[in-house]
Amino acid sequence: MLGLWFRTLLTLLAIALGVFLPLWLIFDLQPAFGAVAAILALLILVHVFYLGRLLRWANGPVDAPVPTGPGVWDLVFAGLHRRSRHRREQQRSLGEALERFRSAIQALPDGIIVFNRTRQIDWINTQAEAQFLLDAAVDRGQVLTNLLRVPEFINYLDSGHYSEALVLDNPRNRGQTLWLRVIPYAEGETLLLSRDISQQERLERMRRDFVANVSHELKTPLTVVAGFAEMLGDQDELDSATTRHYMHLISEQAARMQNLISDLLTLSSLETTQTIEHEEWVEVEPLLQAIKADTEVLSGSRHQVNLTIEGIKRVRGCPGELRSAFANLASNAVRYTPEGGHIDLAWHADAGGGHFSVTDTGIGIASQHLPRLTERFYRVDRGRSRGTGGTGLGLAIVKHILNRHQGNLSIASEVGKGSCFTAHLPARRLEP
Ligand code: ADP
Repeated sequence: MLGLWFRTLLTLLAIALGVFLPLWLIFDLQPAFGAVAAILALLILVHVFYLGRLLRWANGPVDAPVPTGPGVWDLVFAGLHRRSRHRREQQRSLGEALERFRSAIQALPDGIIVFNRTRQIDWINTQAEAQFLLDAAVDRGQVLTNLLRVPEFINYLDSGHYSEALVLDNPRNRGQTLWLRVIPYAEGETLLLSRDISQQERLERMRRDFVANVSHELKTPLTVVAGFAEMLGDQDELDSATTRHYMHLISEQAARMQNLISDLLTLSSLETTQTIEHEEWVEVEPLLQAIKADTEVLSGSRHQVNLTIEGIKRVRGCPGELRSAFANLASNAVRYTPEGGHIDLAWHADAGGGHFSVTDTGIGIASQHLPRLTERFYRVDRGRSRGTGGTGLGLAIVKHILNRHQGNLSIASEVGKGSCFTAHLPARRLEP
């Protein structure tokens, strides 16, 4: 400010001393005033010219460069230049802060949709785009409830009570369950948070099914045991043959429960650890000879059991688990093959890995059941499985064990002709 006054006074002084005084002394008062008036008029013109530049700049684009000028205009334009630079810096740092904030929101695992009072979408993050199959560029400005036309969701929005979340089957992505939460956060602005909870829902359903299945499996033998025990207790005069018969039935059901508990414990211990704890080189030949002997005992000479072994005969794995998986397949062959049938146990190793197959000439399985056989408690014929002491968990255990050995199970079967179950182990588990 001082600079402005100083410069103005200096200019006036220069006019007075440099123009007015000499002209007055040399000529007269009149020509001196005339010259001063002409200089002042020129000065006004110069000021109007720079005022015009200032006005043009003020009305022009925001990022136009600030003009420059002489004298006091230099002061004016320098001040404006400083302000404009400061504003640009502020804008840049605000822009950066906004960008950081946006990247933080994008990095969130949840979907976020921001919408306004009329439910028009203002912003969508990539997770929400993926969950609702939306495209931020195309769908911004669209009415949210036109894109998610689910009465449950619309009612939830209309209700205005958002303290509880809404669990919804995603209408735009079948099979996906979403957890939705609406959060009004500013005047007319609302945030929709969405989380994919399909996996938790599936696990929860599996847990419920599992508990229901186990309870159901235990209920029947327990009812039988309780019933016969009551009959034994109630009737004073039972002949020894009837008593023996009841005792036999009771111990049969007890064995069934024992099998179930033992299979459940096996499954649970397999699930507790994801990897094999005690890995060692397993000799395939003695292992399969032992399984063949057990199979023959189980069969009681009702089947013809053969064993062939080819290729590399040492495999890296847990001996107990491999024996349990292979024995399970062999015992299934005995249980589902009528008397007189053949059961072929075969091991062969090639570049693709080690393969243990059990082929039987049994009842076979219709193709629609094949994909579900390794599910817990899945049976083609419940009565037949139970009748032969099955728990419905055998193949689930086999699959688990093979997975832990990075292997897998393949099944080929034809109703009335027989089945072939093959356990595949990867080549890296074979002795080089
Ligand atoms: P289970 O204890 O009932 O045998 P598994 O898990 O071992 O349970 O087998 C699941 C179902 O697969 C069985 O109930 C049976 O229906 C079918 N299955 C398994 N192995 C054979 C086989 N070798 N031949 C025919 N069906 C089989």
